Amino acid sequence: MNAPSPVDLHLHSSASDGVLEPDPLVAHVKACGVGLMALTDHDTVAGVEAAAGAARAAGVGFVAGVEISARWRGRTVHVLGLAIDPGAARLAAGLASQQALRARRAERIAARLEAAGAPGNEILASIRAAGSLPTRTHFARALVTAGAVPDVGAAFERWLGRGRPGHVPGEWPELAEATSWILAAGGKAAIAHPLRYALSAGARREMCADFRAAGGHGIEVVTGGSGPAQREQAISLAVRCGLEGSAGSDFHDPAVPWNPPGRLAKLPESIRPIWSDFLPA
Ligand code: AMP
Ligand code: MN
Ligand code: MN
Ligand code: MN
Repeated sequence: MNAPSPVDLHLHSSASDGVLEPDPLVAHVKACGVGLMALTDHDTVAGVEAAAGAARAAGVGFVAGVEISARWRGRTVHVLGLAIDPGAARLAAGLASQQALRARRAERIAARLEAAGAPGNEILASIRAAGSLPTRTHFARALVTAGAVPDVGAAFERWLGRGRPGHVPGEWPELAEATSWILAAGGKAAIAHPLRYALSAGARREMCADFRAAGGHGIEVVTGGSGPAQREQAISLAVRCGLEGSAGSDFHDPAVPWNPPGRLAKLPESIRPIWSDFLPA
């Protein structure tokens, strides 16, 4: 059984912090040669229906997805839900509470920015007008537009990153809880970009073991912009923890050159692809 190639199971649209709306996103993904895609916006499935329709029309394989913000031992971790039923009740209730958390957090970020001398309130108004679910990326882009910083990276370093004036930690649910929403929606759960968290190798294995015990299926073994050394680490993590592998670019913006849709290394034979189950027999 061969996957349409390449596979990209981690993509953002303007429903969260992607730049492209679902339709142009699918067109871009197709132009990049992707044969199977998942839309995985942060804590929302608002773009899924439009993206699914566009993918069907374009002849691109599609699975509904989401990237849920969660917490493990006090740290934020991201868990992908793949091939979910986007309307499932428990998932919908969980995402509704995430959306309320994000709306409140955006207000607190705006107030903190304002107190530190940046135009937080104006930025919040522009984010609300755009209608996406707010993330720190929205604040970062608006700070660039306002001339407060030269680029998005600097916005995180100066204003939004941990310990900076506009930082407000998310009060996300536990990893096991977020995973349970995905399972209840009939989906497969995968920890996104597992090497991006500031954890020791031992703690990372413990996180994967806890995740597996909670019913999690896989980790993102191949992520956009990661090199061979990181991939090797992720492969051994998956093998040691008995998890399947996912592959996704974490694409947000066509102006960012380092993680275009579909430019991803292949999974090694030693790893079961998480998408084996999504393909027609
Ligand atoms: P949030 O979930 O609201 O805390 O926002 C997290 C999002 O911010 C991530 O999904 C990334 O898209 C983006 N992000 C985090 N750190 C950085 C960074 N240093 N540079 C650019 N984008 C970042
Ligand atoms: Mn993002
Ligand atoms: Mn993420
Ligand atoms: Mn992402």
